[in-house]
Amino acid sequence: MKFIGAHVSASGGVENAPINASKIGAKAFALFTKNQKQWFAKPLSTENIDGFKSNCEKLGYDPKYILPHDSYLINLGNPVPENLAKSRNAFLDEMQRCEQLGIKLLNFHPGAHLKQISEEECIERIAESINITLDKTKGVTAVIENTAGQGSAIGYKFEHLAAIIEMVEDKSRVGVCLDTCHTFTAGYDIKSEEGYKNTFEEFENIVGFQYLKGLHLNDSKKELASRVDRHDNIGLGLLGVEVFRRIMNDPRFDDMPIILETPNSDLWEEEIVMLYGFKSD
Ligand SMILES: [Zn+2]
Ligand SMILES: [Zn+2]
Repeated sequence: MKFIGAHVSASGGVENAPINASKIGAKAFALFTKNQKQWFAKPLSTENIDGFKSNCEKLGYDPKYILPHDSYLINLGNPVPENLAKSRNAFLDEMQRCEQLGIKLLNFHPGAHLKQISEEECIERIAESINITLDKTKGVTAVIENTAGQGSAIGYKFEHLAAIIEMVEDKSRVGVCLDTCHTFTAGYDIKSEEGYKNTFEEFENIVGFQYLKGLHLNDSKKELASRVDRHDNIGLGLLGVEVFRRIMNDPRFDDMPIILETPNSDLWEEEIVMLYGFKSD
């Protein structure tokens, strides 16, 4: 079974996210548990936590299908020690917020070397950051998202994801999330039937589907291997609809949160209906 949703607004409090998800007919959702553009946020209140849990229960959202995204400011591979420490503290806070909310997954972009250290050194720092955070938390899996490889971002090759996982001590609490736009612009041709087949075979061989915890469904405004991250609404970009039809009929993507991060949120409700309509069984 497929669990499709979108990255919904949590404005006014995290407890509003499940309500916003329900309004668009989502069976899964993503959210920011704090303002994604600021370093510090006030702690979650009892009202936030209880409200979130009771709204999820009332509206039928199992924590398995909630995939929060961390702040865009966090860089777990930052080459500057002071900035790395700041990122690690902020990431720990994000994981602890998930713990408080009963959420099991936290999605994040691995990090960027800022052209000051090598990709390998950056990957080591990222893995160390994950180890430090997992040591201090319980029950939440760190979910590494693949990237488009824009700027100096790590994570545009399946090998990067595998190398990070390899260095994580607790393999039961690390996973990955694949973003269709990032996969395509990183250079994996999931648009063609043959490319789709090859890409996910490669993913299985290098990373392994047992680590796949979620998907981000986005069309792309930029072309294959452009290394630019610009999402588009489903069917309106350069990916087209066929890849999404294949995903909807691919059992390897069953039973995990599948999240739209498409730019025009007015289309989410229609996009969810369209995606379910692609299922042939
Ligand atoms: Zn994404
Ligand atoms: Zn993106």
